[in-house]
Amino acid sequence: MHRIPNTAMDNTMNGGGDHHHHSPYHGQETYLEDIPLKPPKAKKPVPDGVTTIDCTPYFKCLGLTSPWLRRVWFVKDICGLVCAVITWMLLLYAEYVVMIVMLLPQFFSPYNFFNAIVYNFFSFMALSSHLRAMLTDPGAVPKGNATRDNILKMGLRDGEVVFKCPKCVSIKPERAHHCSVCQRCIRKMDHHCPWVNNCVGETNQKYFVLFTMYICIISFHALYLAVTHFVTCLGKEWKSCSGFSPPATTVFLIFLIFEALLFGIFTGIMFGTQVSAICSDETGIEQLKREAARWERKSRWRSMKGVFGQPFGWHWFSPFATPKFAYMENDLHTV
Ligand SMILES: [Zn+2]
Ligand SMILES: [Zn+2]
Repeated sequence: MHRIPNTAMDNTMNGGGDHHHHSPYHGQETYLEDIPLKPPKAKKPVPDGVTTIDCTPYFKCLGLTSPWLRRVWFVKDICGLVCAVITWMLLLYAEYVVMIVMLLPQFFSPYNFFNAIVYNFFSFMALSSHLRAMLTDPGAVPKGNATRDNILKMGLRDGEVVFKCPKCVSIKPERAHHCSVCQRCIRKMDHHCPWVNNCVGETNQKYFVLFTMYICIISFHALYLAVTHFVTCLGKEWKSCSGFSPPATTVFLIFLIFEALLFGIFTGIMFGTQVSAICSDETGIEQLKREAARWERKSRWRSMKGVFGQPFGWHWFSPFATPKFAYMENDLHTV
């Protein structure tokens, strides 16, 4: 964190304009005053780790005008992209085993039909949450806005300080942190998640929480399906259970059980941690640093509304509903 007192900031941003008035050489060696003092070079921000794609024309062709389709945010990180593709592959594998191996052979039995609908619904919600968490701007602070004019516009009183990110050359709002993958300062940054190839911050935390929740739900659903399938098929003849040979079915099911257990537990813990962090109005980074809260802690319910939107309703659980964010109402720091 780069802490610059107001007065020091003024000096550095001033280009040394009134430096000569306080010069110890003033009056003694007059020639010094004739040499114009060069303003220090404006520091350039580091290259961006993200790219934004304007998709309006493509979606307009399809007749889609939803505001969240307009600007797609994408982190240029190979490791993150590989992790995101692995996530899709794992979803696809689970879909294949649940549908093709387990449910499709007797699809029109009420039990199989009902489970297929439920599983596919939650699987679709998980994938949608993943895409929205990945392609939504997590709350990035504009780059290079720490100019003298902008700082003066903030109308700071004596003794007030501005935080400046030396890498983004931006005015850092309270609770923002710099992410070294995105190379941007992110409001209320929680952590950078390679599985969604994005930072988890103020504006995409909802989608991330929904992603962990839906993955947890489908994991335990798949686990239940796989175990019951295994048990019932052991007692019956295999032919009526699965279109595949017994060894192939066993291998498919064992891998699915392993995957479901691993990710069910992992996302369950993640979901719990996220919800408890939102309730205590503290981000992951703040919990790690054990910073004394400088911000006014909101009540649990207000804090939840701050992330999921208000009022409480079905849209809390929909990755397609964009919540309204508190910072849009009043923000001194967005210049
Ligand atoms: Zn930064
Ligand atoms: Zn990041």
